[in-house]
Amino acid sequence: MMRGLSYFSGRRLLLSEVPKELRGVLENARIKQYPAMEIVGQTVECLRCHRVHQRETVKIVNEFETFYYCPSCIQLGRVQSNLFLYSSQWRPKRGQAKVVLDWQGQLTESQREVSEKVRAVVEMKGALLVHAVTGAGKTEMLFEGLHSALNRGWRVALVTPRVDVCLELFPRLQAVFPGLEIGLLYGKQKQRYRYSPLVICTTHQLLRFYQAFDVLIVDEVDAFPYVDNQMLQVAAVNAKKKNGAHIMLSATSTVKLEKEVASGRLEKIILPARFHGYPLPVPEGRWLANWHQLGKGRLPSSFKGLLVGQIEQQRQTLIFCPTVDWLKEMSQLLVKEFPQSAIGSAHAKDDQRYEKIESIRAQTYDFFLTTTILERGVTFPNIDVIVMGSNHRVYSQSALIQMAGRVGRSNRDPIGSVWFIHDGWSRAMKGAVREIRQLNRSAREKGLIRE
Ligand SMILES: [Zn+2]
Repeated sequence: MMRGLSYFSGRRLLLSEVPKELRGVLENARIKQYPAMEIVGQTVECLRCHRVHQRETVKIVNEFETFYYCPSCIQLGRVQSNLFLYSSQWRPKRGQAKVVLDWQGQLTESQREVSEKVRAVVEMKGALLVHAVTGAGKTEMLFEGLHSALNRGWRVALVTPRVDVCLELFPRLQAVFPGLEIGLLYGKQKQRYRYSPLVICTTHQLLRFYQAFDVLIVDEVDAFPYVDNQMLQVAAVNAKKKNGAHIMLSATSTVKLEKEVASGRLEKIILPARFHGYPLPVPEGRWLANWHQLGKGRLPSSFKGLLVGQIEQQRQTLIFCPTVDWLKEMSQLLVKEFPQSAIGSAHAKDDQRYEKIESIRAQTYDFFLTTTILERGVTFPNIDVIVMGSNHRVYSQSALIQMAGRVGRSNRDPIGSVWFIHDGWSRAMKGAVREIRQLNRSAREKGLIRE
């Protein structure tokens, strides 16, 4: 019975999300049941995602009844006004065993400063924004705070907007917390949910939690889709206990968070340098007229020269493309122009993208074309970056900073190149270069850059 109850602990579920063999547990008094939507006047509020809709726009009429549904969170299954949500605040007893942190790495002095701050804020259940540059070694700076929380028997969630980032984090945390049960949740996860003291999941999955976590850590708060999504931000606040700790990590600042910092509601700590002490690579602009028509013709010699140079120097190059169609055209063109080269590509709908990411790590490709799906969270040992059509509107300032941030992350290859291929500097491009330069300057002033 208790095991069944733990399935509901700190969660908010539709009946369709409850496995058949656990439905008997729904009778338990410790499970609360309430209507999934609330009608107020002409509006109806979804009690899972808390979006409010005009009744007329979300009405479904069948031969028996009229009801409403929520389009906002439909990705996780349809919430309807004639359905219920099931939730429990009951929590399983914590095990006696101490949680072991098994990590032999060394933090730099500035990493240790951040790590200690994170632990202190976790322990006093405060709120903190960690602004750490790409390649600063963010995950390692969380270990102490996580360890402390888990040893107190607290429940912790480490979430990010990106599935790829979850998939990178999971094995790393399994390795440093041996024996600890860690849940991994994302849209296409096949394994059935089980209660665990540490949950790694996408920000969307937080919609299924309610006052569950003593500590919520949101990595990549500047990433799509979280950054501009009110629903997900509300979900994060609801998934955490009212007095729970809230740690946010970002490699670029956002206007909204800066306002919170300025108002004093949120504390912020900045780490402007990478762990290895080399500056962030500053993107170099290369003018290429009518780049968007590239796929249809031949490679202009100036641009081809850049690619030839990369092959000659045996540098693996990640080429970001603004759209999937464009990626496909560009990919064909490169295959034609460089028949001897290893050319790969992946986009969001590619089923093999995780295998391909492994191949990039193994230095299999000369050129690998991708969309913004690989803009963040992935680390490759030796890589240069080309952003095609960097003035295209899909690229935000933070996306450009993240793409540039793929370069020079490892100790063995701390310096690399980033090119913005464009036909006119966009505001995002200018902002990205300015922010990268500023961070480098600030790291120099603090004596964090070795030269
Ligand atoms: Zn909803």
